[in-house]
Amino acid sequence: VGTAEALRCAWCGVPHDVASRPLGGRTVCAHCGVATTDPWPTDAQLDVAYEGWYRPGSGRFDAGGDILLRLSRGALSARLDRLAPPGPILDVGCGDGHLVGALRRRGRRAVGLERVSTGPDVIAGVIDDVEGEGTWAAVVFWHSLEHLPAAGHALDIAAKLLAPDGVLIVAVPNAGSWQAKAFGERWFALDLPRHLVHIPARALSRRLARNQIAVERVSHYRGGQVVFGWLHGLVGAFGGYDLYDAIRRSAARRRPMSLGERLAALGMGVVLTPLAAACALVEVAARRGGTVYVEGRRA
Ligand SMILES: [Zn+2]
Repeated sequence: VGTAEALRCAWCGVPHDVASRPLGGRTVCAHCGVATTDPWPTDAQLDVAYEGWYRPGSGRFDAGGDILLRLSRGALSARLDRLAPPGPILDVGCGDGHLVGALRRRGRRAVGLERVSTGPDVIAGVIDDVEGEGTWAAVVFWHSLEHLPAAGHALDIAAKLLAPDGVLIVAVPNAGSWQAKAFGERWFALDLPRHLVHIPARALSRRLARNQIAVERVSHYRGGQVVFGWLHGLVGAFGGYDLYDAIRRSAARRRPMSLGERLAALGMGVVLTPLAAACALVEVAARRGGTVYVEGRRA
């Protein structure tokens, strides 16, 4: 991955040209509508961006947040186990491996891929190296596709790995959402430089169709973070605070925060929650929610 790649769309591969639109930290492809992070980060910059605060060993959030994370993976594993035909499940960008663990407890063979191995069933590797074309019961990209240097290509490979009737699940921030438009460069889910592509829901559906994946469900709330995206943006706009830092453990913060700042940010968060929830409801109802969750099946 070098500088030259920043000149191409990381989703469709078409070189950026005069029709491409620069947009604070990213460039929108005129061909497919997906934005690529620009300037493209170096490997060293990405290593720094993923170190320390992003995922410290002590957990990212206070106890409640980490428990919620575990419960939501449990629910997803039950759904996957029900939807997918018999066979192994691949979780691309599996983080701490909560989903893989939950699937294994259900008796499913499951493997996770990550930048670094975080457990026995989590392999440090990329989807290009996965073997067994046409044999996987399901492939999951849970808020991971946007982190991949060649996200569109990774989705194509996933489609090939699937067995007939195999299930593909993708959850990504929706670059075509109203919250993305409202907050622009300060949108919570822009998350530069870790997010390398910024995908509108429509572009995702088109790519799945091209891969003979029949979409069975699209949801703008299952992917999570829809209310939080608004809340984070509103607290930032009105108070200048980073609410995401305020809810994280001190070791997991991007910038140090005094207790006073933290309380002010959390207080604003409480006050603005009804407004954020109302904004989220409206954008979800309009099918322009802050995240998009898609379930598809290989034809
Ligand atoms: Zn493109």
